[in-house]
Amino acid sequence: MNSAFDKMVVDARTVFDASASKPLRDAWAELSLVEIRADLVKRFGAAGIGEAETDARFLLAHVLAPASYAEAVADPALCSWQQINWLAELAWERVHRKPMSQILGTQPFWTLELDVSEDVLTPRADTETLVEAVLDARSQTTARVLDIGVGSGAILLALLSERKAWQGVGVDVSEAALDIAAKNARRCGLDERAEFLQASWGRGLPAGAFDILVSNPPYIRSDVMKTLDPEVRDFEPHLALDGGVDGLDAYRAILDEARNLVKPGGLVAFEIGYDQGEAVSGLLQAHGLSGIALIQDLAGHDRVVLGALS
Ligand code: GLN
Repeated sequence: MNSAFDKMVVDARTVFDASASKPLRDAWAELSLVEIRADLVKRFGAAGIGEAETDARFLLAHVLAPASYAEAVADPALCSWQQINWLAELAWERVHRKPMSQILGTQPFWTLELDVSEDVLTPRADTETLVEAVLDARSQTTARVLDIGVGSGAILLALLSERKAWQGVGVDVSEAALDIAAKNARRCGLDERAEFLQASWGRGLPAGAFDILVSNPPYIRSDVMKTLDPEVRDFEPHLALDGGVDGLDAYRAILDEARNLVKPGGLVAFEIGYDQGEAVSGLLQAHGLSGIALIQDLAGHDRVVLGALS
């Protein structure tokens, strides 16, 4: 070793060799990009990942940008060893079942692109059913919306993006989640109409301040938690998933506050688990809500319950 550059190369090697993804980089040392892609798909499949092809395609697109995979295959100069190294890091996380959304750091939801981390539930397509249900139920020009357990901000921000004069408050017990939600509001250019507050369910918020209450609360039964996919069970916040012994704790807590928070005639709309339609409708009824409706997601499962306060 005789120059600062040589030392830099040795230092870099030491860091790379110590990183967990070394087995992948070693396996790929002599492979072409096409062969690396095939190896990725095989490893993802072996790790039990259902969407192995898609995930490999997304990771390659992510690390090769701005070049496409096809361009990089045609011209190997478009793909550096740093990119392959980065691919190995990300692929290693995916093999260990870290969700794609957390690896890439973003997730599309409705028409928005949202930041996500391990501090928030990754927004799911099912939850768009809740957004659609609220938009269908309320066409008024102005409204104040409360999103309890706002997480990434997905539901509230999607609603505000569609109704240009609606205003909203998102509450969450998790400060880390509130940071992400606020960041997403800025990212979507909706921060002037969205406010984020730390609160448990709706406690301590001003009485009668809202026209619409929405929530995708934790609703998985505690005994089901351990059976979830590793992506969910091991990487997503249990605070946003675990709904207690019967999965309904959060609905009870929110409904206890709803009459105080929502104006007479106001809407309450919940996302629910596929088998909770009857139970949650019953809770709304017991709390005196009227016009209770059950709405299905695109797979045909019960996904949303809504009702109005009298
Ligand atoms: N639908 C989510 C899941 O199955 C659960 C969301 C929730 O508990 N609110 O992972």
